[in-house]
Amino acid sequence: MNALEFIRKMPKAELHLHLEGTVSPQTLWKMARKNHVPLPVGTLKELSALYEFESFDKFLKLWQAMCRCFKTEADYAFMVENFAKTCARQNIRYAELHFTPFNHEKFAIGGKRALNAVTKKLESLEKRGGPVTRLIIDIPAEGGKKAGEYTTRLLEAEKNPLIVAIGLGGPEAGFPRKDFAEYFRRAREAGYFCVAHAGETEGAHHVQEAVLDLKARRIQHGVRAVESKKVLDLLKTHNICCDVAVTSNLCLKVFKKIEQHPLKRLLKAQIPLTLNTDDPPFFNTDIEREYERAYLELGITLKDLWEMNLNGLRFGLAETALRRSLMEEFKENAPA
Ligand SMILES: [Zn+2]
Repeated sequence: MNALEFIRKMPKAELHLHLEGTVSPQTLWKMARKNHVPLPVGTLKELSALYEFESFDKFLKLWQAMCRCFKTEADYAFMVENFAKTCARQNIRYAELHFTPFNHEKFAIGGKRALNAVTKKLESLEKRGGPVTRLIIDIPAEGGKKAGEYTTRLLEAEKNPLIVAIGLGGPEAGFPRKDFAEYFRRAREAGYFCVAHAGETEGAHHVQEAVLDLKARRIQHGVRAVESKKVLDLLKTHNICCDVAVTSNLCLKVFKKIEQHPLKRLLKAQIPLTLNTDDPPFFNTDIEREYERAYLELGITLKDLWEMNLNGLRFGLAETALRRSLMEEFKENAPA
């Protein structure tokens, strides 16, 4: 079996994927037309062109325009169904999905209603054979204290076992991770795990804050930890996994060229890693492409790629018994 076939056949786990970020231009176009929501462009072709990113700011504006297109529970179910189709196509068996109720409170049908629609659909998928999913509820950093308070209260009142962690998303620049420490403390007290975006558009100090101030068990991105030996040591000592998304980093100009991407350096520093898409259609990627790029363009061995894939189960936040049974399934179905 050649390497690309191996990658295609692997049963896969993905930990860093935003549910709203799985909405393709085609899906968004259909939703906007159905719900009579004006978009900043007149054709599907122009909308697809908007998905080409120059900056995080432009990315955020499109993201918010997208949130405005959700008008009914059925729209959320439609998003989840489309996500499930991409999982089936790529053999994704376990996914941790970031979801941001605050944005749906602000721009759509209400955060709680949106969350209920999403969990209902995800539960039914799991009952029908998968993919198995768990949710990370993100505070959007740009929403500041208001978003922190809203999200934490929602989590404190929530009892759905599908929801496993609090996260921190949105922009990094101008939003120190430590400013959200109080919300993360409350979420921990309510029984949730903590994860956070850090070390993508800001440097290693943000990774340090995510670990020490937010007690993050995993870091989304974390790639700029390579800027500090001290922070690399911190990640290694605490056995913190970084959920890396190579194409996302390139699209958002964290690194100009793939040769500059520090995936191999992080691997050499013995930091546990997973490979991810972040927001696949927004970055014109999918999980197979991420593995292929790591293999073909970054020279990561198939053995290391397979271990990164299994890290998705080792460092995933679902119940231990579930992760262990998925681990068995993965090993049984590992491509020879
Ligand atoms: Zn992300």
